[in-house]
Amino acid sequence: MRAQQTGGGPDDGADALFGLEDIDPGRAPRPQGNAGPLFRDGPAARRLLSVGTIFAEPAAAASPRGRQVLARYPDAEVVPVDSHWRIPDLHGNEQNVDRWVRIKTETLVLGEKKTLTTRPNGRSADWIAPGPANGCAMACAYCYVPRRKGYANPVTVFTNIERTIAHLSRHIARLGPKPEANQCDPLAWVYDIGENSDCCVDALISDNVADLVHAFARWPAAKASFATKFVNPDLLLLEPRGRTRVRFSLMPPSDSRLLDIRTSPVESRIAAAGDFLDAGYEVHFNLSPVVLRPGWERDWSLLLRHMDDVLPARVKDQAAAEVIMLTHNKDLHELNLGWHPRAEDVLWQPRLQEPKRSQNGSWNVRYRSDVKAGAVAAVRELVAAHAPWLRIRYAF
Ligand code: SF4
Repeated sequence: MRAQQTGGGPDDGADALFGLEDIDPGRAPRPQGNAGPLFRDGPAARRLLSVGTIFAEPAAAASPRGRQVLARYPDAEVVPVDSHWRIPDLHGNEQNVDRWVRIKTETLVLGEKKTLTTRPNGRSADWIAPGPANGCAMACAYCYVPRRKGYANPVTVFTNIERTIAHLSRHIARLGPKPEANQCDPLAWVYDIGENSDCCVDALISDNVADLVHAFARWPAAKASFATKFVNPDLLLLEPRGRTRVRFSLMPPSDSRLLDIRTSPVESRIAAAGDFLDAGYEVHFNLSPVVLRPGWERDWSLLLRHMDDVLPARVKDQAAAEVIMLTHNKDLHELNLGWHPRAEDVLWQPRLQEPKRSQNGSWNVRYRSDVKAGAVAAVRELVAAHAPWLRIRYAF
């Protein structure tokens, strides 16, 4: 079924299922006193994010969420900016390539999301929701997120999360119950909340993700969904009540060590699945991106066998997967040659790839349709052979 399209523009709220009194991030359950120290306050989190500079729109800095973030990094220099979209020292500056990872570690941006749009999707989710952030502290070599905001793209925290939650509440209310099952979900409208960030990293910085998880826990017709490559145990302290789907992204560990810079090891993502399920999340997997290189089928077989060996039955019983073949980008390829050329040995394979002009005019490359069709069929066969319990929701 194709997802029903509704307007994504400003809502009048006339048909909202939930009043504004229901949208109170401050009342979301928080870790209790016996929960121990939060992961986000520990050394592993600090290795990923050790913030020294915060570029901030004044209104964002003055908001409750903005003040929360500033209080987490009291020693950071705060630099006022007119817009989180136009920061000359940060965005669109290819000279930053040498400092690519350092900027992601040491810099944050605070901004307000001005335009709240929910777009139809139909593959990974029914809808792409406005997210809690844009940008990422990790640095996967194939990541599409920096393409929209320039190159070095550290996390921008959207401080007006209450507007996002109000927008989603109205969107869900306008849709009503899901009329028929589809591969996204048999019952719930699925909203991807992590299109332009990794929510597990965002949760190191602010309570935006917690607020979204708790909002969806109260919306019986809808479910949040996000992919992640980072294990953040603080999310286990939330109360998703089955209304948030975590999709752990997986690829063979040798590919991940080369390409998934700064992410949690693949083995730890798999090992976390049972804990997230027990905490009330639905747990799916993204087998993505599938990168074709010599020996790829053998290594995906080993990965699937490892999943079969270590995942508990309760995870397997509810699991499903997306399979996504690599899409790359010419500009990103040229940029990567400046900081991580070994990644390009496997990502850039002109013999197997074809160009495709993207919506913003840049050139993406994807595997030729015959190559891709063969590889998708091969992945399906590998899953059937080594992890037959893993339902493939879609593959492309
Ligand atoms: S984790 Fe996701 S958002 Fe972050 S760099 Fe990797 S692909 Fe991009």
